[in-house]
Amino acid sequence: MKKSEYVYLDNAATTPMDPRVIEVITRHFRETYGNSSSLHSIGQKAGQTLEQARKDIAELINAERSDIIFTASGTEADNMAIKGVAFQNKKRGRHIITSTIEHHAVENPCKYLEENGFSVSYLPVDANGLIELPALEKAIQEDTILISIMTANNEIGTIEPIKEIGKIAHERDILFHTDAVQAFGKIPMDVNELHIDLLSASAHKIYGPKGIGLLYMRNQGERENGKKYIQPILHGGGHEKEMRPATVAVPLIAGFAEAVRLCHAEMDKEAHRQTKLRDKIINWILTHIEDSKLNGHPTRRLPNNVNMSFKYIEGESIVMDLDMEHIAVSTGSACSSKSLDPSHVLLAIGLDAIDAQGSMRATVGRFTTEEDIDYFLEVLPKTVHRLREMSPLKKS
Ligand code: PLP
Repeated sequence: MKKSEYVYLDNAATTPMDPRVIEVITRHFRETYGNSSSLHSIGQKAGQTLEQARKDIAELINAERSDIIFTASGTEADNMAIKGVAFQNKKRGRHIITSTIEHHAVENPCKYLEENGFSVSYLPVDANGLIELPALEKAIQEDTILISIMTANNEIGTIEPIKEIGKIAHERDILFHTDAVQAFGKIPMDVNELHIDLLSASAHKIYGPKGIGLLYMRNQGERENGKKYIQPILHGGGHEKEMRPATVAVPLIAGFAEAVRLCHAEMDKEAHRQTKLRDKIINWILTHIEDSKLNGHPTRRLPNNVNMSFKYIEGESIVMDLDMEHIAVSTGSACSSKSLDPSHVLLAIGLDAIDAQGSMRATVGRFTTEEDIDYFLEVLPKTVHRLREMSPLKKS
């Protein structure tokens, strides 16, 4: 396989669009321009495209079509789930459980709720980034209304025991939300088998367009007695069952559905291929670069995620140096990688600030070739060596 012109190993931050998705979107931008709520046939055509996309996506996670609401992003879906459940259930209870390693899209809505009369328990994780179930059980209170735990972590790739978490939540009649933005399309997800009430996903992490996401809401956001368990956080027209009022981005949604379909059609093959590339990077680094360490679970991790710490150097310097060699990697999550604060996720799994600063995340993707990885592993040790030579932290 040939090396790409630019070796892009930052697929957890965002993915390039698959040309097959671009084709679908382009066609729909041209042909399906109606407002899906309009009564005329142009609008009806957009409405049919929208409903077909909803049905296709729902089937792939074993959900009902009517339980999928389209949003503008994973962040919006997370905000809708957390604030929407909190505000709707505040008479029932004001306690929420989440973890210390959530993406800011979950962490910050929780902090916002804390400033507005709710209390939040942030569960610690073990050294591999896994939630411990006894700690979850202990954190549950009489007034707990929501448990929100991510399916897989965006920085270290650890896959959480969400089936067990969902089961615990349901036994106690607590709603379970999972931020599946990183896992969706990469590992099989069945909302029934996993006891999920609310699930957030985003198209741009799976070779789809930026600006579109979804929230799965079990039973259209209603309890068995017909009472709503979630309310909208945006107020406007009646689109998306009034949960997400805005003119619906039908061409993007058609592209999202195509991206999901492709992920599912190619999931086994890609998971196998990417796991091989992932493990090749991890094993090579651990054997050839001294004072390097793997962050996250050794096996229970996303097929595309590598996160390593290199002693005595800073992740930012690695990113800048590799960029000059036409290789893209990242430090923490993309959203916080402009900040020099150590990653809250790496601190949560027990790294000290220095090891956390020396971390690099490399995430392979559908378009990563074996040659890309060979080139990366040729350049990386030279980069690490050069930076260590200059480092004031280097051991004498
Ligand atoms: N949740 C996780 C785990 C993520 O990795 C991201 C993006 O990095 C988000 C939420 C936010 O998704 P979006 O970029 O679609 O707002």
